[in-house]
This record gives sequence, C-alpha cells and structure tokens, in this order.
Amino acid sequence: MSVQTLTLATAENTEIISHDPATGEEVGRVPNLSAAEVIAAVKRARAMQGAWAALDFKERGRIVMRARQIVLDEIDAIARLISRESGKPLTEAISMELTPTLDLMQFFARKTKKLLRTEKLDIGQYGLMGRSSRIIYKPLGVVGIISPWNFPWAIPLGEVVMALMAGNAVVLKPSELTPLVGLKIGEVFKRAGLPEGLLQVVTGDGKTGAALAEAGVDKIMFTGSVATGKRVAEAAARQLIPCVLELGGKDPMIVLEDANVLMAASAAVWGGFANSGQACASVERLYVHEKIATQFIEQVVAQVRALEQNIGTREGTDIGAMSSERQLKIVEEHVNDAVSQGARVLVGGHRRDDLGGMFYEPTVLADVSHQMDVMREETFGPVLPVMTFKTEEEVLRWANDSVFGLTASVWTRDASRGRRLAEKIEAGTVTVNEVLYTHGIAQTPWGGMKQSGIGRTHGRLGLLELVAPQHIHVNRVTSFRDLWWFSYTPRAAELFRGLARRFATGNPLQTSLLLPQMIRRLFERRN
Ligand code: NDP
Repeated sequence: MSVQTLTLATAENTEIISHDPATGEEVGRVPNLSAAEVIAAVKRARAMQGAWAALDFKERGRIVMRARQIVLDEIDAIARLISRESGKPLTEAISMELTPTLDLMQFFARKTKKLLRTEKLDIGQYGLMGRSSRIIYKPLGVVGIISPWNFPWAIPLGEVVMALMAGNAVVLKPSELTPLVGLKIGEVFKRAGLPEGLLQVVTGDGKTGAALAEAGVDKIMFTGSVATGKRVAEAAARQLIPCVLELGGKDPMIVLEDANVLMAASAAVWGGFANSGQACASVERLYVHEKIATQFIEQVVAQVRALEQNIGTREGTDIGAMSSERQLKIVEEHVNDAVSQGARVLVGGHRRDDLGGMFYEPTVLADVSHQMDVMREETFGPVLPVMTFKTEEEVLRWANDSVFGLTASVWTRDASRGRRLAEKIEAGTVTVNEVLYTHGIAQTPWGGMKQSGIGRTHGRLGLLELVAPQHIHVNRVTSFRDLWWFSYTPRAAELFRGLARRFATGNPLQTSLLLPQMIRRLFERRN
C-alpha cells in the first residue's frame, strides 16, 4: 500500500497520520476534527476577537515580533519539519519558506498601522459645502484560512500574520498532508503570548476544510486547486461572505532573442524545478526564441543533469520528493500523454524508484504543442516543456492561450521591451528577468487573473482583503437643511435642473452661477 493511501485510509477515522513522502516514515499524528469541533473553534475565536482588536498596532506587533524571534531561534528544527512533511529540501525550506516569512513578519508588525491609516477623501464640491469623508479600516472578525501542502509554512503564516495585525482572530485549516507544520504555526504564536483562542489550527481532511467554510467565519482565505476553490466560493456565496481564492497556474516563461541565455536557462531550471515544480508560480510552459533555442536548451539540459535529487533532509539535495502519490501520477500522465503525441524527452521522464519515496526525475520535453495536457493543464511537478517561437505576436498569443493567469515572466536585455510585453500578458504578476519568487516579497500583491483566482494576498492590497473599509461622512454645517431635501416645490425642480447642468460638471465656477437660486431655496417654505 502506498504512503498516500495509508494517509487517506486513516483519515476516514478520527486521526490523520502524516508521512514523510521521501521515506514513508511516520512524522506524527493529529486529530481529524469534526464539523462540530470546527464550529466550536470559530465561536472561541469570536469571543476573543473584540479584546484583540482593541489593542493598538504596537501591542499586536510586539507579539508578532516575539513569534518571529521564536521562529528564528528554531529555524533549523522548523525547516526539518517542513522538509519531512512536504519532501522539499531542507535548504529550500529555509530559503523559500522561512526567510521570506521572517521578513514578512517584521514588515507587517512595523508597517500595518501606516498601511491601514485613516484616509481622507477628496469629495470635490461637497467639501466646499462643509462636509468631509474619511475611510477607516476595521477588522473583519474571524478569518478562516484554508491552505495547501506545497508551501505549508509560508502560505498560511503570511495570511495569519496579516489577519492578526489587522485585528482579526484566525482559524487555520492546514492540508492533511502537512498538518504538523500547521500546528507548529499555532504553537509558535501561543509561546509568543498570543491570547488563547485567537489563532486556532483545526487539523483534518477535506471535510474539515468544508466545515470551516460553513462555520460562520467572516471571510475565507483559500489557497488550493480550482475545483476546491469553486466549492469554497459556493459555500461563501451561500452565507454571503467574501472569499479570496488563490488557485492554480500554468505560468509561461518567454525568452526573447536578446536575453542573457545563461541567466535565463538557470532561471528556467530553478523556476521549473524548485520544490519539485510544486509551486503555483512554477514555470510550466517555456517559450524560447528560435534564434537562441539550441544554445538555450543545451544549457537547460546540462544544468538539469547536474541537479542532485535525494531525500530533502540530506545535505546537498537540490530536488526532493514530491508531496503525494496523487500529484506524482498527474506528472506521469502528462509526460506519457505528451510522449504519445510526439514530444521528445531531453532529460528525465521517469519515476525514481531507486530512491524509495515519491521522486520523479526533473524532466525537459521538446516538440510539445498546445494540444497536449502538459501545455494546457496544471502539471504541478518537475516538468519543463519547451516550445520555440518566431515573433512577439505569436508568443503573446500562446502565453495568453490558457485558462490560468497567475504569473508569467519575460526575459530580455531591453527592460522597456520587457515591460511592454509584460503589460500584454494576462497574469496577476509578470516579472521581467525574474521568476517565481515575488510571493516572498511582503510588500507586493499576490493573486491571479482568470481561473487562477480572485482577490489578493500580501502587500497593501492583500492587507485590505482582511479589513472592512468604513466610510465616515461628517457635515460640519448644522444650521441649514440640504437643498435636495423635501419639499419638492416648482422652484426646487428648477434648481435641480440647474444642478444637473452646472454642479454635475464638477466645476465650482459653474456651480457658483446657481448661488442666488440656492440661497432662495435655503429659505424657501411651501405655502
Ligand atoms: P486542494 O484544493 O486539494 O486543497 C487545498 C486545501 O483545501 C487543503 O487544506 C484541503 O484539505 C482543503 N480542502 C479540500 N477539500 C475541501 C473542501 N471541500 N472545502 C474546503 N477545503 C477543502 O489543493 P492542494 O492542496 O492539492 O494544492 C495544490 C493546488 O494549490 C494547486 O492547484 C496549486 O496551484 C494551488 N496553489 C495556489 C497558490 C496560489 O497562491 N495561487 C499557492 C500554492 C498552491 P486536505 O489537503 O486536507 O484535503
């Protein structure tokens, strides 16, 4: 029986066993919580949220910074846990999960106050009438976070920190494949002094996630597949609560003829194979200009051959195990389907049974087309399919020929050409001469277009997803009625026509022509 089947079979009951996908060893056991237990967690969180929201940003930030110190003190142990539960190299757990979140923690601990400061709006001519408008940002209440297994630390932790800093309570449901990493996040905040109940980690399988979406939270932050995202959106619609959906990708990388070939090839290899290609922003489609294709592809293949694939906790490992048998099967299906339609395997192309766990060789495919699943559906594995192109128009058409739109990259020595092309690509983030890593920048927004999702996480746009904007409008003039109130006399009707013609131009000079009529109206009484 495979490791994955074992996990799912046990999850039918009251316990989930977490396994190391590289070795099959048990990492630990966690409860598979019921809907009733999830509802109780949300109630506890709600009871605590008011007092938390009453604290100022500095006090909340102090707890986040204490949690950050604990993470820093235990960085190797946490990286080891992430590596064991997910299969990724320990070094990559530090570079792609821990370092970015340590940065994110200090950023939101220090800057949330400024990012959410009260905004005064310019209300044009209404301002001349003694009125003012401000936007204040209030916490939502209880935020439900449902997260996947591929970045089991960085994805939920970033959202937890932002939600807490904004004054919310959080109930987090980690993936059943990586529940211990989820629990570790809860433990770190508890030890940092976060009041009991404000961050609760509810472990379980998909049913626990579905229960959280129905448990009475005020917003759901979901990261995962399109299929589950749609189910979460349906649950949110039934309760009329908002949700952010961070879903899949089929991200294109476009290498123009003037790119630095060596740098672009190294980027393609890292962008395609980091975390065994199990990143929503992995390079999933590679388009290279025909003039440099031979040189570029040779370079990519040589670099892939030099990658060290092994158990993630071993020193020197570049590529670890995949996280699940299910994901590995999708990779096999995509590669086999492409080969059966004429694709050529330049390197890789097989499962690595010799390593024992769920390993698939880093694979480069040539002679692929948009008729193949590997160019249309999310592979989410260590596979880099390459096509060559002749013109910008052709490659833009191909890049946008996808239901997904999460990230994309353009490679060129001409930054303005890169920017011009970037603007024509349908994706939430487009990088020029960079790949994959911007989820690690706390200041920049993250999110997709098309089927890649709705809403944003990270940056100010992500923070705004975790608050309710409230508009406060004040009229300082308390001695006169408004012109548009009752009663609707013939003279009022005439003034309203004037307002439509002059006031609605937005030009105070035009409005001033109505002043005599306006003054008469202020003192007008119906007979
Ligand atoms: P899933 O959609 O299978 O699962 C995501 C989360 O939802 C897990 O915690 C899962 O629990 C839970 N879940 C399962 N069923 C339900 C349900 N009916 N209602 C509510 N929650 C449920 O995705 P994967 O874990 O397989 O993650 C891979 C996907 O995530 C890829 O498509 C990838 O592109 C996407 N992703 C997107 C990112 C982005 O930022 N846009 C970042 C990272 C990944 P359980 O695991 O216990 O079943």
